[in-house]
Amino acid sequence: MVFASKAHMLFDDGDHKCMVFSELVKGSGIQANQFLILDGKHGATIDPGGDLTYAPLTLEIGKHMPAQKLDYILASHQDPDIIASLGRWMMQTQAKVVVSKLWSRFLPHLGASYLNDLNGRKLEDRIIPVADKGGVIELGDSSILILPAHFLHSVGNLHFYDIKSKILFSGDMGASLVDASPGQAVEDFEAHIPSMRGFHERYMCSRKVCRLWADMVRELDVEMIVPQHGRPFKGKAMVNRFLDWISSLSCGTDLLGEENYMLTREHKLALRMQDSHATPEAPPSRLLKFPG
Ligand code: FE
Repeated sequence: MVFASKAHMLFDDGDHKCMVFSELVKGSGIQANQFLILDGKHGATIDPGGDLTYAPLTLEIGKHMPAQKLDYILASHQDPDIIASLGRWMMQTQAKVVVSKLWSRFLPHLGASYLNDLNGRKLEDRIIPVADKGGVIELGDSSILILPAHFLHSVGNLHFYDIKSKILFSGDMGASLVDASPGQAVEDFEAHIPSMRGFHERYMCSRKVCRLWADMVRELDVEMIVPQHGRPFKGKAMVNRFLDWISSLSCGTDLLGEENYMLTREHKLALRMQDSHATPEAPPSRLLKFPG
């Protein structure tokens, strides 16, 4: 019995395929895209997610290759929606995990202790720590560039450029929060900005880093930028629209001032109560307001 694939094909030349799964997250988890790159009999998944997506994603991968034979899990960074299901992947597949060297020593915390010596293979031997400058991995007859994207948003952050398809898998860069059809490419860039702006202003480090990243991306021949949340940017014109926009966006530390690092009235009242053992009326709750 053959089950229909939920994959949306981004590239397919018969031997090399890139696909995205946009609708595997159910319930209260934020929409997230998971990816599979196939080259012949070899496969790599990018940002497979946590327990929410583990079962449906392994089922989907199984429609294209035996999931246990996956070569790589490529992790853009360390967040729950990126790699929280690491332990299950380690148990059920032979895959190695590619991640920034900054996170390689933290990832074992995501696995149960018995995984540390599973089938005679230590978990740490299956984690490939990537240096800050990035690198290249081989997948079948193709290569994937591992690109630095540090502070966008994680301190150790990587993006993956698939040379055959010319697709840049950009993690949280370009992410959008859309109500419907996350697999559909952006058509009206101006109309799409409100679904990206708040996220990038709050999560990305600074305009300086965004611009450095965009300048590096312009050196590549990119046909598509596909983020981990929301819609892809397809075609060179749309890719350039996004690079222009992100290069000039004030975000992160650009927008922060001392008002974002102040003790609030609530903090001070709590301190005073501790001193006096008084019990004044509960102060109104006031959260530190960050941009975005
Ligand atoms: Fe993240």
